[in-house]
This record gives sequence, C-alpha cells and structure tokens, in this order.
Amino acid sequence: MTMDKNTTPQSLVIVGSIGLDDVQTPEGEVRDALGGAATYSAIAASFFTPVGIVGVIGDDFPQTHLDYLDSRRIDLAGVERISGGKTFHWAGYYDFDLNVAHTLDTQLNVFADFKPVLPDSYKKASYVFLANIDPVLQLEVLNQVEKPKLTVCDTMNFWITGKRDALVEVLSRVDIAFMNDAEARQLTGCMSIVKAARAIQKIGPQTLIIKKGEHGALLFHNDEHFSAPSYPLESIADPTGAGDSFAGGFIGYVASVDDISPKTLRRAVIQGSVMASFNVEDFSMNRLRRLTCDEIAKRYSEFREMAHFDALEDASL
Ligand code: AMP
Repeated sequence: MTMDKNTTPQSLVIVGSIGLDDVQTPEGEVRDALGGAATYSAIAASFFTPVGIVGVIGDDFPQTHLDYLDSRRIDLAGVERISGGKTFHWAGYYDFDLNVAHTLDTQLNVFADFKPVLPDSYKKASYVFLANIDPVLQLEVLNQVEKPKLTVCDTMNFWITGKRDALVEVLSRVDIAFMNDAEARQLTGCMSIVKAARAIQKIGPQTLIIKKGEHGALLFHNDEHFSAPSYPLESIADPTGAGDSFAGGFIGYVASVDDISPKTLRRAVIQGSVMASFNVEDFSMNRLRRLTCDEIAKRYSEFREMAHFDALEDASL
C-alpha cells in the first residue's frame, strides 16, 4: 500500500532507508527512535524546499512519525507500507570518538525485497538524492527518473563491502557523491584523501564531498577544492544522521535556488554543515523537530564569520 496520491511534479526526490534506530552514545541512549538516511536527509532538506521520499516501512512504523514527516512538507506518495512486514532497524553505539559509528546490528527487513516504483509525479524530478541504502535500489530509482538536472548519492561501509560492483555503477552515473573520509579510503585503497577523491572522480562524479565528522567537509569540484569548517559545538549528544542531515541541507538548498554553479555548491556545503551541526545536538530528529529557519540563518552567518579571514585584495603576502 502506498501512502497517498500526489500529481504535482516533485522537484526533489530522495530515496534511502526509513528506519527505527537503537543508539547509545556517551550522552545517553534511545530505542526504536525515528531514523534512516532518507528520513534525516528529507527532514533537513524540507527546511529549504518540498521533498518527495521513496522508501518502505512495515506495520510497526508509528503513524506519529508519518504525521511528522507530512507536517514538514515531505510527500509520502513514494513510501510503501508492507502489511505484516517489519521496518528497517539499525542498532549502533559511539564511544568517545564520536566520528566513528559502531554498528551492532542491521536488519534490512522490508528493504530486503523492496522494488521502488516511482509515482509519476517523481519521474520528472530535477534533483535526485540517492541517500544511503542498497546501491541496487539506488540504481532502480536512477533508472526511473527521466532527465534530472542533478543526481547525488551517498553510501556507507556496509555497502562498500557488501555491494561494491553496484555501488561503482551508481558512482559512474551520478554527478555528485558524498562519502566520509574512512569510506573514501576503504573504497579506493588510497591513504591520501586527495588521491582517494581523484580516484572516485575517475569512476564518474565530477564533484565529491568528503565529510570529516567534527573536522568539517571537503568539496572537490573538477580541479578545484573548497574546505568547510565544522561548527565548534561544546557537546554532541548523538552523531547519528549527521551525514544525512548534511546531505539533506546540501541538496535542499541547491534545489531551492535551482542552480548548480560552483558558488552555489560551496554555499550548499555550508548549509549542509549548518544542518548537521544542529542535528547532533540531540538524539534522533529531536533537534530538527524544534529547529527554526531563523536559527539556520543565524548559524549560516556564524559559519561565514568563522571561515572568513581576509579579502583577496587585502592579502599582503
Ligand atoms: P549517518 O548520517 O551516517 O549517521 O546515518 C545514520 C542513519 O543511517 C541511521 O538512522 C540508520 O538508520 C541508517 N543506516 C544505518 N545503516 C544503514 C545501511 N546499511 N543502509 C541504509 N541506512 C543505514
């Protein structure tokens, strides 16, 4: 059963996991909390633009979560509920190095047999974000969109190890890829992040964004690169979803301005950093639930101040 019918063309479509997470960090723990890569990224993107989400849930997925997604302008026509099925479930923990997620358990459940069928209103999407999920499903979505302006993908170690060939095919077909530094090294076998980035660009995406957790992010765009700082937070409650909210802020911003120039991509990296920095302040989506557009604008300005050190014409060296 799909959620409802929407005939308005969707500008931004996101596919990826929609799940329930058990997470433990030095600051506390949650069980069966709203999670999933598509969920985090769609919520982050929804602060900039309407979103259509493609995924699957089981009977156990609470209606209150669907109501929350709906309240954020997230269209659910591409979400299928499998009666008698169980929702994707991830369990993990973080030690004091909050950059490293330790997976305890991944239950694909209804995602194991999922065949995404895009509603007609999604096929003409201009912006497509293939959030973290089986790359075979990412390819199935890519095969159904007609002529997107920009395709972006994310992934994780689980798929680099388990579905490498499909992942390389996804990479060969997208414009932009997101990866964290460890995943880029794992995929390419290169110790140097710059070499790893070049190797991934050779596979396909001319733009690559390497997330470095609490150390910011690097944007490689053709031969140029741009380095974004991270926000100096005093305490991080739960890093889960940092990468996804980063990607959601990035693609949501790009779709909202409908421009893919290098300048926009740089701004989008900062918008992604802003969204990730808020997301980690609380567990699950709790911080994003009470986030306001004014807070986003204020933190974006703080990022500008943080990264600014000299106008080119003032440089005396
Ligand atoms: P991140 O932004 O990398 O912290 O992503 C965290 C989210 O990824 C969690 O909410 C999980 O539900 C989801 N997740 C964990 N493992 C996988 C996987 N193998 N495939 C898709 N999503 C996953």
